[in-house]
Amino acid sequence: MKIARLEAHHLANIPIQPPPFRKLPNAEHALIVEIETTDGLIGYSMGGYTHPVVVDFLNHHAADLLVGEDASCIERVIARFDRHSVVRFMGRAYLSALALVDIALWDLKGKSLGVPVHKLLGGAPVYSVEELAAEAKHLAELGNLHLKNTVGRQAVPNPADDYLRMRAMREAVGPRVKLAMDGNSRMTVAQATKLCQMTEELDISFIEEPVIDNHPTQLRELRGKTSIPIAAAENHKYSARDLLVNDAVDILQPNVTNDGGYTAGLRIGMLAQAFGRSLGHGNGSGPHNIALQAALSNGGLVEYHFHKWMAYNAIFENVPQPENGYLQVSQEPGLGLNPKRGLIKEFKKVDRTSLLFSQPGAM
Ligand SMILES: [Mg+2]
Repeated sequence: MKIARLEAHHLANIPIQPPPFRKLPNAEHALIVEIETTDGLIGYSMGGYTHPVVVDFLNHHAADLLVGEDASCIERVIARFDRHSVVRFMGRAYLSALALVDIALWDLKGKSLGVPVHKLLGGAPVYSVEELAAEAKHLAELGNLHLKNTVGRQAVPNPADDYLRMRAMREAVGPRVKLAMDGNSRMTVAQATKLCQMTEELDISFIEEPVIDNHPTQLRELRGKTSIPIAAAENHKYSARDLLVNDAVDILQPNVTNDGGYTAGLRIGMLAQAFGRSLGHGNGSGPHNIALQAALSNGGLVEYHFHKWMAYNAIFENVPQPENGYLQVSQEPGLGLNPKRGLIKEFKKVDRTSLLFSQPGAM
């Protein structure tokens, strides 16, 4: 996949539709870069910096420099470009030219591998509706009876989009598996209300942290508008007490590893009992939350995040493993969560700051 051609095109006066309250500009300029490889693939990029110096530089200097290079070795191509010291004097124009070459190369790489560039760059783990449904089906087939999905995660929370995702999950797993939603405190009351009202037909077992900051009176307002139970108190800006006295939640969610350990968890659990509320969940620290949930008569579900569950498995001996939706509480003395032999020594990271402070006489 060698670079056969690099060409920059300054496009001028491309008609555009201006916003309704403005007449001008009604045309745009753009700089398009094409990089073609010996096997016929073409990568494209576009920038708005169209100064003739940039166009000329790309078409002459950059093309001469890069034709013949392996387009799949982006790091090498960019380093070669960068080392060409004359370009450094061009300042912003140089950076713009460099950017367009780089973007076209990424486009080429994606095309040659058959993969979208966002996945090559890291691929943030947002499932498509199809992937979400497939994952839910897979987890249900493994015997999990409860699944929870994140909602309100868009830059502007979009209840209609979340409804479609939850509906796809419900269709994938059938009526037997319980489905819950986690808003991670991102929605307004109006957005959360709309989402709850739309998803009620999907038999949602609860919604976790639906509104911004877990504000107690806002949670209460939402609670009055939906039949879906409300859960909160994992991230306790407002205390469990505030949530209880404000009738804001159905389920309290202390996470022992974040929220004060078992001592605080016991107090919250007993307070919740006095208000006729249950406990549940508590983030991905499931193997540590089991002891609290199993200890109290109003204890409930324990949450396992897949990656954290795997981390627990990697670190500890005998981590309770979910089977058909249930966990067996360890009957070992203590928690039954002991690190594997030698593991701490092997993976201990030496922190330079703590070394400094541990030197004799250091203040
Ligand atoms: Mg959560």
